[in-house]
Amino acid sequence: MVCTTVRQGFECTFMNKTGCQFNGGRCHPVVEQCDGCHRTIEIPTGKYCMSFPEPAAKWKHGVCNMATHIKTSNTTGNNRVNPLKASKRSR
Ligand code: SF4
Repeated sequence: MVCTTVRQGFECTFMNKTGCQFNGGRCHPVVEQCDGCHRTIEIPTGKYCMSFPEPAAKWKHGVCNMATHIKTSNTTGNNRVNPLKASKRSR
């Protein structure tokens, strides 16, 4: 449904006929770590994330997995092992 609280006019999965069902009944503004991310939007009610209603929670345990401004480097190259194939190889 379309948001009728802080992100008015934007489609949101937390909205229903009785209002916003997210914790607190509204989206929370972005945090400092979100600066530069392409998922932020600035609207008259403030700066919000287009993907998450509570950006602070995405940074609570490390880097936000949806951040567009943070590049993660795989220093070991593409050496991911499929556990199913690995178990077959060991036979
Ligand atoms: S995707 Fe992550 S880093 Fe980007 S605005 Fe949302 S919470 Fe912040």
